[in-house]
Amino acid sequence: MDLFNVYPLVNITPVRALGAKLWDDKGQEYLDFYGGHAVISIGHSHPHYVQRLTEQLQNIGFYSNSVQIPIQRELAEKLGRVSGYPDFSLFLCNSGAEANENALKLASFHTGKKRVIAFKGAFHGRTSGAVAATDNPKIVAPFNADHAISFLEYDLTAVEQALQGGDVCAVIIEPIQGVGGIIMPSDEFLQGLAALCQQYGALLIADEVQSGYGRSGKFFAHQHAGIRPDVISVAKGMGNGFPIGGILIAPELQASYGLLGTTFGGNHLACAAALAVLEVIEEEELLAHATELGHYLRTELLAHAGAVEIRGRGLMVGIKYDFPIKEIRDKLLTEHHIFVGNASDPTVLRLLPPLNITRAEVDRFLGALASFSPQKTQKVSQK
Ligand code: PMP
Repeated sequence: MDLFNVYPLVNITPVRALGAKLWDDKGQEYLDFYGGHAVISIGHSHPHYVQRLTEQLQNIGFYSNSVQIPIQRELAEKLGRVSGYPDFSLFLCNSGAEANENALKLASFHTGKKRVIAFKGAFHGRTSGAVAATDNPKIVAPFNADHAISFLEYDLTAVEQALQGGDVCAVIIEPIQGVGGIIMPSDEFLQGLAALCQQYGALLIADEVQSGYGRSGKFFAHQHAGIRPDVISVAKGMGNGFPIGGILIAPELQASYGLLGTTFGGNHLACAAALAVLEVIEEEELLAHATELGHYLRTELLAHAGAVEIRGRGLMVGIKYDFPIKEIRDKLLTEHHIFVGNASDPTVLRLLPPLNITRAEVDRFLGALASFSPQKTQKVSQK
């Protein structure tokens, strides 16, 4: 049987990984500035993570939600405390798309409304509901919910007009767009958006699948704006490679909980992985580390070569050029053995290294990029 629809971003075959390093099948070492698409939060095969998962598997690896699974409560309690949402409830599933699917479903059940507001360039996943809220022409929404979704600019007047149209159950937003190319709505926009949602009775869903788990330097990227969404979607960095996702649900939405469910969601191994991630985030103070190294990285990038804009927060960084980045990305890989990400905007290079990347590793990346540098950056965006 052939594999269906495989489209590797680069032609390497990693067979071993540790921290921010990958080794391919020929023993070549690579520096991982892509983190398996923002999934590797605490570094590949972190010793604590390996130990936690191994011990869990030696006891019990899986049972479905038909039994008591105390490690789920342990995870919910810890995530609530570390994230600053102790009063929310956690629903566990297996991926980012599934998290958003459930967030949208919850919003519709809770409000009894059907329309959704999403934003231009958004990526929320590939299941029917999530893909319908995804603004990417390359991704097809077969059960087309177009009629129910409005894709707007970051413009509060436009949002208010759409809300006035009525029947809006939710506004879904990435506090920092990832796939779109590290696009940041302003803090003021997010604050205005939260106020409008409250005024018009629509739920605010923060899709933190890529920007969450410390990547921006705060646990959640929306926390830079001081807002409190009704539902927060998480996945990717939550499990550091073990498939797990979830939604954090505000206490007011309790009545709608019972409609969510999934066989694998919240299994023992997945919860052990997610707990190990939180333990390492706390133990190694990775929020502070991501803030500091992200600031250093972005400041040093300002001197870089041909880039027209450096954007992002923490270790979620976009370098915008006025030409396609493919050649730079290829050269970084083949000549410097550094793996970086791309975006749906072909002129943006996306950096998503593990949160515990070292200063020496950042310097190695900067040194490699400096070899492409004739001129100074002209324009710098926020933070
Ligand atoms: N939301 C965002 C913001 C994402 O970046 C992604 C994945 N790129 C998803 C949702 C979908 O996550 P998954 O691939 O785990 O379904």
